[in-house]
Amino acid sequence: MTAPAHSRSSADLIRAEEPVLAHNYHPLPVVVSRAEGAWVEDVEGRRYLDMLAGYSALNFGHRHPALIEAAHRQLDRLTLTSRAFHNDRLAEFAERLAALTGLDMVLPMNTGAEAVESGIKVARKWAYDVKGVPADLATIVVAADNFHGRTTTIVSFSTDETARSGFGPFTPGFRIVPYNDLAALEAAIDDTTAAVLIEPIQGEAGVLIPDDGYLTGVRELTRRKGCLFVADEIQSGLGRTGRTLAVEHESVVPDVLLLGKALGGGIVPVSAVVARREVLGVLRPGEHGSTFGGNPLAAAVGTAVVELLETGEFQRRAAELGEVLRDGLAALAGKGVVGFRARGLWAGVDVDPALGTGREVSERLMREGILVKDTHGSTIRLAPPLTITGGELEEALGTLEKVLAL
Ligand SMILES: *Cc1c(COP(=O)(O)O)cnc(C)c1O
Repeated sequence: MTAPAHSRSSADLIRAEEPVLAHNYHPLPVVVSRAEGAWVEDVEGRRYLDMLAGYSALNFGHRHPALIEAAHRQLDRLTLTSRAFHNDRLAEFAERLAALTGLDMVLPMNTGAEAVESGIKVARKWAYDVKGVPADLATIVVAADNFHGRTTTIVSFSTDETARSGFGPFTPGFRIVPYNDLAALEAAIDDTTAAVLIEPIQGEAGVLIPDDGYLTGVRELTRRKGCLFVADEIQSGLGRTGRTLAVEHESVVPDVLLLGKALGGGIVPVSAVVARREVLGVLRPGEHGSTFGGNPLAAAVGTAVVELLETGEFQRRAAELGEVLRDGLAALAGKGVVGFRARGLWAGVDVDPALGTGREVSERLMREGILVKDTHGSTIRLAPPLTITGGELEEALGTLEKVLAL
């Protein structure tokens, strides 16, 4: 890589943020100014292996050549039309995304939280128009310890007090049941239930993987009870777990799929609600929208992302390198790792609390050139770009072993 882009030091830039930037994050003290593939570089020219990949927004690594090329090509032709007019990129994006996921229709949005909000609106509309739930009585069943985003409605059904406290009054219409508990789920569903909304793997909660059969059970239960299965695959989807979608590990097809993060290729925010025609077909003109949703730049990048996933290469890499990750973490049992959960290139690692909090371990790893992020307590999350090499992954695991032995 070339010379640092800044004359201001990392410390100076971090200090400069304090008075002018809202304090809603507590970032690691690293100031990134360049990146390529699995590697980022700070303003002093120090290099780090990115083992977080933007919480899966960078599944294809930083600046994947095919994605950058698609973005450049589109920047030179057309970037924004609004949905007041058609644009020549949207049909192909929707066609290919629907085909990739095995569903029929696409509602393009921008951020993950918007996809979740849109999924909630679509499920409620379906409940009133198709299922016949009396007006304003629809309920949606969600899981404890969920993470679906940060809007007022979404934090209404969060169980994380830090995310909720001080932000009420909240949106009604949600029922919270324990994750991975089919009996509790069944008991919570009644004639008012529009949908069950869950993450197939709970990422923020610490990469919690439900028991085998849970997703099949949710599918069977929602079908039998006549409500929708809405799967939030914003973090778990698009190759991360070794399949295109995490629900594929149980060969389950939800009624509604929420996608985001990696769909934007690490370049622009792109999210989508993807669903069966009977469900997404309930929306009529004027009932929902987004100025930026489905813009031609987003559609061009999103199409290029789908094209990468159509090859199967990234899913295969995640599955194969996932074995390396799993073996590496298993070898750290008793060496500072007290537990871990992994699927594909995604792991929640519980570090011995005696060795420090997740935050402290993350800071030590940062000083050794590895970027990760704690989820909470002593759990760190590993989610490297799916383009990482086996050698780089081994290097990261070696550094983790070293840091935990300090
Ligand atoms: C990140 C995330 C969201 C929210 O996405 P934003 O783009 O940050 O709004 C929703 N659901 C899941 C599972 C996520 O990981």
